[in-house]
Amino acid sequence: MKTLVVALLALAPIIASKLASGGENDRFARHIKKLKRQLPRGFAVIVEPPFVVIGDDTPDAVRGYAESTVRWAVAKLKADFFARDPDEIIDVWLFKDAASYRRNARRFFSATPSTPYGYYSAAHKALVMNIATGGGTLVHEIVHPFMRANFPRCPAWLNEGLGSLFEQSAERRGRIIGRTNWRLAGLQRAIHERRVPSLSSLLATTTSQFYDDDPGTNYAAARYLLYYLQERGLLAKFFSTFRANVDRDPSGLETLKSILGTTDLAAFQKRWEAFVATLTFP
Ligand SMILES: [Zn+2]
Repeated sequence: MKTLVVALLALAPIIASKLASGGENDRFARHIKKLKRQLPRGFAVIVEPPFVVIGDDTPDAVRGYAESTVRWAVAKLKADFFARDPDEIIDVWLFKDAASYRRNARRFFSATPSTPYGYYSAAHKALVMNIATGGGTLVHEIVHPFMRANFPRCPAWLNEGLGSLFEQSAERRGRIIGRTNWRLAGLQRAIHERRVPSLSSLLATTTSQFYDDDPGTNYAAARYLLYYLQERGLLAKFFSTFRANVDRDPSGLETLKSILGTTDLAAFQKRWEAFVATLTFP
């Protein structure tokens, strides 16, 4: 423990907020020592297992995100969905504005982000965020490394559906819930114009179909399908049943039907679309 404190003090301002056992301490201390070699001045580093949060905003602001958003989301997501922590320490990079995000994504990861908000890079074991856009995307991205650790065969529709669900999140009776958000209007428009593909085709999408052949509704349809399950109290059960059955039901289609108690998914889709039409945001 003494070594750790020395290592931490050497890299002020670093706050070790939540370290557990000795082995864990050593692992994080080694990781921080390595980080120290690559970090320029002006970055705060906060240990928030299983993450290390690194940011170039004020130390107080970085600590605020670590202790509120990251700690809260990790605890709530683990309570309902993810028993396992990711095997490796994941760095959460919180860049303070768009300019810093673009400059530092290039500097640290040789990357040009395709989104203004933030992304998860499994290869770099990093969440890379423009935190000026808010904490919502941060919670979305936190879902991805946990999904990878707990449900590696999860299809993209579920991975992005759950991430998107919690990008606008709150607490209800102690559990994390997704709220309606900016993705609703586009989905309602697409439903109205009968442009939403069938749920069975959404669930059957491969990774590249989900991302590359997106008719513009994939994220929103996946999100609001999970939102429907959440509002019916079926989401955690769907998730755990799907994960247990993924060998024989890789898309989740059969699990969805059994959780909904129906064999007619087209009829369910009509009910779901009618439900989505009643939702409001803001
Ligand atoms: Zn995502």
